[in-house]
Amino acid sequence: MSNTELDLLRQQTNDLNLQILKLINERGRIVQEIGKTKEAQGINRYDPVRERAMLDSIIEHNDGPFEDSTIQHIFKEIFKAGLELQEDDHSKALLVSRKKKPENTIVNLKGETIGDGEQRFIIGPCAVESYEQVAEVAAAAKKQGLKLLRGGAFKPRTSPYDFQGLGVEGLKILKRVADEYDLAVISEIVNPEHIEQAINYIDVIQIGARNMQNFELLKAAGCVKKPVLLKRGLAATLKEFINAAEYIISQGNDQIILCERGIRTYETATRNTLDISAVPILKQETHLPVFVDVTHSTGRRDLLLPTAKAALAIGADGVMAEVHPDPSVALSDSAQQMDIPTFEKWLNELKPLVQLKA
Ligand code: PEP
Ligand code: MN
Repeated sequence: MSNTELDLLRQQTNDLNLQILKLINERGRIVQEIGKTKEAQGINRYDPVRERAMLDSIIEHNDGPFEDSTIQHIFKEIFKAGLELQEDDHSKALLVSRKKKPENTIVNLKGETIGDGEQRFIIGPCAVESYEQVAEVAAAAKKQGLKLLRGGAFKPRTSPYDFQGLGVEGLKILKRVADEYDLAVISEIVNPEHIEQAINYIDVIQIGARNMQNFELLKAAGCVKKPVLLKRGLAATLKEFINAAEYIISQGNDQIILCERGIRTYETATRNTLDISAVPILKQETHLPVFVDVTHSTGRRDLLLPTAKAALAIGADGVMAEVHPDPSVALSDSAQQMDIPTFEKWLNELKPLVQLKA
């Protein structure tokens, strides 16, 4: 073959590449239109039956030189790209997305604001054990000028034989302490049927990592006028986490705080692996405030200070940590809760790093 012949063939391939490119993009635009129509009609975008029919019809027309399996593979990729295009369009439309609403959502808790640029702390025991125990931590929080107190009343424990929490009794203790110390209290709810009752006692509904995809719970929390702190699931991707928040907001409740609390990886040095880069990603992708729970992400008391510093430095809206008057006798998470002097030292090291409202 002469060089001119080769050049000619190469030129033909280049032209064909451009034609294929044009056709693929044309197909993409039509697929986007289909996506919009399906969304408007509430139809699922992925339709495996139609995809199978399209592939069969393409293969029927294939007279080589490519094998059917090769053609099938190439077209499968084209279909997948089309579906991704529809999903991109869809994620732009998510109610939690910053594209939908550029301004930060600010959550107001009894006058304390979250998400307005000032970094906050939520502290308190893992579980509510008694009035005295919660009151002691509340007094310590108040002394430090903090306003947000946590405490679990319904504990979703990995083992059914572990302490399950005091239930409604625990919520009543939180309410009493909140009133006496003028604090806002946050507690986990695990059952959608408990929400109506719980909101009489608490200021923030926590949805825990184990329940991040409990869709009935998310929907129930979305139906009430009470802020929600949503924790990232044990093995949830950020996309899944964002979609879980979408479940809440889609029911009308936009008062949502996201909380990174570590994810399960192969690393065993920490209880979970704190995914610190989740913070700026969530801040970019959504308009919701983002907290970091340093206790459950590390499971180690010696890491509570450095990880909290990292959270503040990377732009989290706040840090959550567990504090107990006597962690050695705590009914849950005794290895990583701080006692009160340790908490005071921890907070005082963090205070100079806290970003205040601009
Ligand atoms: C908690 O904060 O009490 C808790 C159980 O955390 P997580 O759901 O993140 O494990
Ligand atoms: Mn805990």
